[in-house]
Amino acid sequence: MFDKILIANRGEIALRVIRAAREMGIATVAVHSTADSDAMHVRMADESICIGPPSSPQSYLSIPALIAACEVTGAQAIHPGYGFLSENAKFVQIVQDHDLTFIGPTAEHIRVMGDKITAKDTMKALGVPCVPGSEGGVATLAEAQKIGAEMGYPVIIKATAGGGGKGMKVAETAADMEKAFQTARAEGKSNFGNDEVYIEKYLTTPRHIEIQVFGDGKGGAVHLGERDCSLQRRHQKVFEEAPGPTITPEQRAHIGKTCADAVANINYAGAGTIEFLFENGEFFFIEMNTRLQVEHPVTEAIFNVDLVREQIRVAAGLPMSFTQDDLTIDGHAIEVRLNAEKLPNFSPCPGKITQFHVPGGLGVRMDSALYAGYSIPPHYDSLIGKLIVHGRDRPEALARLERALGELIIEGVDSTTPLFHALLQDPDVLSGNYNIHWLEHWLESNLPEG
Ligand code: ADP
Repeated sequence: MFDKILIANRGEIALRVIRAAREMGIATVAVHSTADSDAMHVRMADESICIGPPSSPQSYLSIPALIAACEVTGAQAIHPGYGFLSENAKFVQIVQDHDLTFIGPTAEHIRVMGDKITAKDTMKALGVPCVPGSEGGVATLAEAQKIGAEMGYPVIIKATAGGGGKGMKVAETAADMEKAFQTARAEGKSNFGNDEVYIEKYLTTPRHIEIQVFGDGKGGAVHLGERDCSLQRRHQKVFEEAPGPTITPEQRAHIGKTCADAVANINYAGAGTIEFLFENGEFFFIEMNTRLQVEHPVTEAIFNVDLVREQIRVAAGLPMSFTQDDLTIDGHAIEVRLNAEKLPNFSPCPGKITQFHVPGGLGVRMDSALYAGYSIPPHYDSLIGKLIVHGRDRPEALARLERALGELIIEGVDSTTPLFHALLQDPDVLSGNYNIHWLEHWLESNLPEG
């Protein structure tokens, strides 16, 4: 096992990794930009090292700075968290070239799944059902129009290198195709340096269901059921739960086994998430994330496992600590993402936290790097915390969420907390009756004030 690991991240996910490492008796190194000298992850780690100025490319994304930080501190492995360099194959290769361990899958698996066209081809070959669409990339507008006409509108044009909701454009009709095609390409180019796009049938009433998988890198793999992340704004998840309220045990067992077999087949190592759209009882693969997800705590809650601990174990060459038969679902968990954003427009709202009170009690977990007196810097993501509740069943989890939100105090900046207070009053949310488009429609007529 490692003696010391470095966490190439910040915020709540850096704390999450520090916590797991500490319980395993592993020392931790935090890295930070000059804007984050006072950040909680810096305070909580055993050691910290400044790696650059506020801008991410010069600090959290600076590969030379991170490698140097390992060399200076003697850290043997790097946990990337999510975002930043977590799905950067080049980084993984460089880490290995320096005789360090990357806590995650291989560079090759990241490369394959990071390109959505290759990922789809790979999954299809492994027997995973995919969204109907173009065979590979679509190079010209004429080709795109031909595919649209054949497949029937609406369609979605997606950048193969896209992520975080960027590089996706819907064409409702043939008349929208030219603009959607050009915009998806331009966004792919400007955000990810790759203008290749492909086309999928645009599903009008699906839920977003993702399967958590975990591989030992040696042909062994398990699945940890699904998360339903259908409540989304601008293709970004805001409310996630496990198990999915509409998924039957038979559906779970079937799609779970399909996914576990697929990753076992390619000797996948560590945590991964296989994302699907789910419509009329059918699963359609959209992409695989080769890292820990923001919403992993809901899975941890219902299976009573520590996924970060497991990632570190597998990276150190140890076997997984559970088998498929050990994994049984206990109750229901929900996570809400708290962002420093001002409603109704969701505009980023960094600033100084004057008061902070974390809810507690049975079945409540708050993953956040805030503290009273902390100034949220304007340079990074607006996620300031995740509130996770666990109950014996969905109604209990919902009641617990409402209770916990009532205890939460964040003063000094606006947050998205009022959104969840409002959502919990809605009959569709209470009954689980929604699809991926529901929240956008709801926001049009129910915008809560901050
Ligand atoms: P990203 O990598 O940017 O997160 P994804 O491919 O995971 O992109 O898609 C994100 C979200 O976009 C999905 O959860 C879903 O809401 C929507 N989406 C993606 N593909 C389709 C599709 N074919 N039909 C309808 N919605 C889609």
